[in-house]
Amino acid sequence: MIKCSICEDNLEEQKHPITGNVFFNKGHNAKPVNDGRCCDRCNNTIVIPRRMEIMGMDIDLRQYHMKCIEEFPINKIKEKYNGSK
Ligand SMILES: [Zn+2]
Repeated sequence: MIKCSICEDNLEEQKHPITGNVFFNKGHNAKPVNDGRCCDRCNNTIVIPRRMEIMGMDIDLRQYHMKCIEEFPINKIKEKYNGSK
Protein backbone atom coordinates (compact mmCIF):
# COMPACT_ATOMS: atom_id res chain seq x y z
CA MET A 1 0.00 0.00 0.00
CA ILE A 2 1.30 3.41 -0.96
CA LYS A 3 1.06 6.05 1.73
CA CYS A 4 0.50 9.74 1.36
CA SER A 5 3.85 11.49 1.86
CA ILE A 6 2.17 14.32 3.76
CA CYS A 7 -0.50 12.88 6.08
CA GLU A 8 0.71 9.24 5.83
CA ASP A 9 -2.79 7.92 5.20
CA ASN A 10 -2.96 5.04 2.79
CA LEU A 11 -3.75 6.12 -0.74
CA GLU A 12 -7.12 4.70 -1.59
CA GLU A 13 -7.48 1.40 -3.36
CA GLN A 14 -9.55 1.88 -6.46
CA LYS A 15 -11.39 -0.32 -8.90
CA HIS A 16 -11.29 0.15 -12.61
CA PRO A 17 -14.80 1.29 -13.54
CA ILE A 18 -15.15 -1.15 -16.43
CA THR A 19 -13.01 -4.20 -15.63
CA GLY A 20 -13.48 -4.05 -11.85
CA ASN A 21 -9.79 -4.83 -11.39
CA VAL A 22 -8.38 -3.38 -8.21
CA PHE A 23 -5.47 -1.02 -8.60
CA PHE A 24 -3.84 1.42 -6.27
CA ASN A 25 -4.34 5.08 -6.66
CA LYS A 26 -0.85 6.51 -7.01
CA GLY A 27 -2.10 9.83 -5.73
CA HIS A 28 -0.77 13.19 -6.79
CA ASN A 29 2.66 14.67 -7.20
CA ALA A 30 3.33 16.35 -3.85
CA LYS A 31 5.83 18.88 -5.18
CA PRO A 32 6.72 21.47 -4.02
CA VAL A 33 5.79 20.19 -0.55
CA ASN A 34 7.97 17.10 -0.94
CA ASP A 35 9.11 14.68 -3.65
CA GLY A 36 6.60 11.95 -2.89
CA ARG A 37 2.98 11.22 -3.69
CA CYS A 38 0.02 12.56 -1.77
CA CYS A 39 -3.68 11.82 -1.34
CA ASP A 40 -6.55 13.82 -2.86
CA ARG A 41 -7.18 15.64 0.39
CA CYS A 42 -3.59 16.81 0.86
CA ASN A 43 -3.35 17.73 -2.79
CA ASN A 44 -6.38 20.00 -2.51
CA THR A 45 -5.68 21.46 0.89
CA ILE A 46 -1.86 21.70 1.01
CA VAL A 47 -0.12 21.15 -2.32
CA ILE A 48 -2.30 23.31 -4.58
CA PRO A 49 -2.43 26.28 -2.17
CA ARG A 50 1.35 26.04 -1.79
CA ARG A 51 1.80 26.17 -5.56
CA MET A 52 -0.52 29.17 -5.73
CA GLU A 53 1.51 30.90 -3.08
CA ILE A 54 4.70 30.27 -5.03
CA MET A 55 3.07 31.65 -8.16
CA GLY A 56 2.53 34.85 -6.21
CA MET A 57 -1.21 34.77 -5.84
CA ASP A 58 -2.49 36.97 -3.09
CA ILE A 59 -4.40 35.44 -0.21
CA ASP A 60 -7.88 36.47 -1.37
CA LEU A 61 -7.44 34.89 -4.75
CA ARG A 62 -6.08 31.73 -3.16
CA GLN A 63 -9.07 31.51 -0.87
CA TYR A 64 -11.31 31.95 -3.88
CA HIS A 65 -9.57 29.05 -5.60
CA MET A 66 -9.89 26.91 -2.48
CA LYS A 67 -13.61 27.60 -2.40
CA CYS A 68 -13.85 26.53 -6.01
CA ILE A 69 -11.95 23.34 -5.22
CA GLU A 70 -14.40 22.52 -2.45
CA GLU A 71 -17.42 23.28 -4.59
CA PHE A 72 -16.32 21.80 -7.88
CA PRO A 73 -14.32 18.80 -8.99
CA ILE A 74 -10.91 20.10 -9.96
CA ASN A 75 -11.39 19.53 -13.67
CA LYS A 76 -14.49 21.74 -13.59
CA ILE A 77 -12.60 24.81 -12.38
CA LYS A 78 -11.19 25.66 -15.81
CA GLU A 79 -14.67 25.43 -17.29
CA LYS A 80 -15.92 27.84 -14.69
CA TYR A 81 -13.25 30.40 -15.53
CA ASN A 82 -13.72 30.02 -19.24
CA GLY A 83 -17.46 30.43 -18.79
CA SER A 84 -17.17 33.64 -16.78
CA LYS A 85 -15.12 35.55 -19.35
ZN1 LIG B 1 -2.59 12.99 2.59
